[in-house]
Amino acid sequence: MILTVTMNPSVDISYPLEKLIINDVNRVADVSKSAGGKGLNVSRVARQLSCKVVATGIIGGTIGEYIQEQLDQQKIQHNFYRTTKESRNCIAILHEGNQTEILEDGPILSDQEETDFLLHFSSMLMDNQISVITISGSLPRGLSQDCYVKMIEHANAKNILVVLDTSGEPFRRVLETTNIRPTVIKPNISELSALEDKAFDGNWKELKAVLEGPRYRDIEWIIVSMGSEGAFAKHHDKYYHVEVPRITAISPVGSGDATVAGIAKALEAGRTDEDLLKMAMTTGVLNTLEERTGYINCENYDFYYEQIKITQI
Ligand code: ATP
Repeated sequence: MILTVTMNPSVDISYPLEKLIINDVNRVADVSKSAGGKGLNVSRVARQLSCKVVATGIIGGTIGEYIQEQLDQQKIQHNFYRTTKESRNCIAILHEGNQTEILEDGPILSDQEETDFLLHFSSMLMDNQISVITISGSLPRGLSQDCYVKMIEHANAKNILVVLDTSGEPFRRVLETTNIRPTVIKPNISELSALEDKAFDGNWKELKAVLEGPRYRDIEWIIVSMGSEGAFAKHHDKYYHVEVPRITAISPVGSGDATVAGIAKALEAGRTDEDLLKMAMTTGVLNTLEERTGYINCENYDFYYEQIKITQI
């Protein structure tokens, strides 16, 4: 079973408007509200890939209730730690071909809530049903920057594989705590550039040199996603360049999350290097072809899978 982690989930509200009128009333007829957050996108795509999935993280209040109802409707199992603090709304106003977003930060959580969540998380690993954990996105305010380090410590102790897709300080902390290791990290090229404080443009030699650094030692898989340019990957001491077909993207938002779902499925099934990379890229490409975030059309899976080109370098 795959356990997906979303620490700061949201209700994503979309307001389509013909025109956004500033400093006046805007009325919206066609509102859509869905459970959002990178880990929940992973959950949805993993379900579409016929994986057994359970979603966890922290939720609270009536927004938290709504998130759970949405997951129930989508038949995604969940087991969140609940607080009394309200989860967040994220609003996207679609107007005149633009997307204006208003993103709430979400609740400020306490040290006690972190401790209680970690107990909840570690208890979920006890029944030996979870074989892969995906950890996606940022941490809510108030939690320690080491929260993912502590979660990976629990997973490592149980030999559960971990796919980590985060950025900034929580990512840096994991990489610099060398006694714990995620199985896979999937930074995109700009997240890697921010971490290394160096602008990468996809040049293989440069990427290879940086991934050989001490920060990345003993991380089994490093998959640097590069949007329409595919990915650069390292598995143990093998390096791969992965090309994806040229397509007309509809919405690339959430393609990294779909990629994580593909990685988790391949890890769970113990696939070969080539298969894992092809599955990861296919799910990313399929998400890019959809308007909906965290959704793929599985009917086109084989068509795109066959077009992914892997070169060992
Ligand atoms: P997000 O944060 O929105 O989830 P990301 O930045 O983490 O995404 P990307 O590197 O943009 O992830 O994309 C992940 C994968 O999705 C790519 O490696 C590729 O397989 C596929 N992909 C994304 N954009 C495109 C595109 N324009 N054309 C083809 N494939 C794409």
